[in-house]
Amino acid sequence: MAINTAAYEQLIKELSEKKVTLVAVSKTKPAEDILALYKLGQRDFGENYVQELTDKETALPKDIRWHFIGHLQSNKVKYIAPFVHLIHGVDSLKLLQEINKQAAKYDRVIDCLLQVHIAEEETKFGMNETELNEAISACVTGQINNVRIKGLMGMASFTDNTQQVRKEFAHLRSLFDECNAAMHADFQILSMGMSGDYVMAIEKGSNMVRIGSLLFGARTYTK
Ligand SMILES: *Cc1c(COP(=O)(O)O)cnc(C)c1O
Repeated sequence: MAINTAAYEQLIKELSEKKVTLVAVSKTKPAEDILALYKLGQRDFGENYVQELTDKETALPKDIRWHFIGHLQSNKVKYIAPFVHLIHGVDSLKLLQEINKQAAKYDRVIDCLLQVHIAEEETKFGMNETELNEAISACVTGQINNVRIKGLMGMASFTDNTQQVRKEFAHLRSLFDECNAAMHADFQILSMGMSGDYVMAIEKGSNMVRIGSLLFGARTYTK
């Protein structure tokens, strides 16, 4: 249950040198583990489940920046819209429109990342390039005003083939650059890399990593 303080200190040192932001992924972990990391200075935390996130948001310090990194269903956006800091996994125009609607209700502009499907596995979520272009256009043309697309997010294949992983991260990086050049998107955040592959992700240009098990230990799912 205890957090890995040494791993955290080492990681923070490594990441700050490279100007990479750490999102500590606390899904399935108790509030006390989050608080332990909070006391070491960590403020960005990532969660995958809406109910779990809202419970933790209520219980924990208000200056935590909550990142939603899971697969978000449109009908649940309303629960996190009042406080969420960054939604990483926007994978459809429909979801983007719903976030826009809920953000307007709370008189907010919600920062989002578009999730791109870069892995070989079919099971992973994300947009293809056509959908990506549609979503960016909707924002550029002013149909969507209460969402700010800050960049892209992706997950590489879960494989020992590091060449494959590097190729997928490099692909996302090139899409990121293309969006900024051709679509005049003002993207700043490239969210890629987890405990097992963050070194390769940073090598390919990631500036935000989402790391869970390295800090909190392995997860046991009860759901
Ligand atoms: C769970 C999760 C992570 C963290 O994974 P670890 O391997 O524990 O670092 C990162 N990103 C997403 C989208 C996740 O669901």
